[in-house]
Amino acid sequence: MTFDMELVAKIIWVLFIVAWGVIRYKPNIKSRKIAKSVVSRTLKERFSMIVSSFGLGYIPAVWVFTDFLDGFDYNQNIVLMVVGALLLIVSLRLFRLTHKALGKMWSHSLDLRENHKLVTSGIYEKVRHPMYTAFWVWAIGAAFLLPNWVAGFSGLVGFGTLFFLRVGQEEEMMKAEFGEQYEAYMKRTKKVFPKVY
Ligand code: SAH
Repeated sequence: MTFDMELVAKIIWVLFIVAWGVIRYKPNIKSRKIAKSVVSRTLKERFSMIVSSFGLGYIPAVWVFTDFLDGFDYNQNIVLMVVGALLLIVSLRLFRLTHKALGKMWSHSLDLRENHKLVTSGIYEKVRHPMYTAFWVWAIGAAFLLPNWVAGFSGLVGFGTLFFLRVGQEEEMMKAEFGEQYEAYMKRTKKVFPKVY
């Protein structure tokens, strides 16, 4: 029996998506019960959400489940694949920690909930956008894991687009809501990687 690395990569990717869905399931139900007080879903934000979900989710899924993108396959290296799988595990851990800290204050997009509380504890002590760190680690992990030029790199392009279009708007929204409290938080934390960026 030969070791089919492409199949292994596909299985790991599907397991990752399932685990991610499990981690998000409860926070999604709980946070949805609290009404939104601010919804700033600009055209830019809607566009980013679509591009990101295609890059991280739908395009790799097309590669996993169909043969449309097979022309872009390349030979996999076992070391890169292991690095990719480990990064996906780190990403799941980060998602878990962010949901634990953010609780009901979470939303998929740029919204604020009623009586929104600024969270600066738990993993939010280290950086102010740890969930975006988790998405970056996912995108980088997928680029290592998936031996296909399109499906592997679409996450970096898709999430990168969302990140750079959203993060400034999100910080403006938080400053408008929390004023000095958020500005002080910005002074003592970095965006996604402690001490670096
Ligand atoms: N940017 C954060 C959160 C992503 S979810 C992260 O990467 O971890 C996006 C929503 O979270 C935003 O609409 C905002 O309402 C909320 N949010 C972002 N930072 C927050 C914080 N420090 N405290 C409470 N809510 C926050």
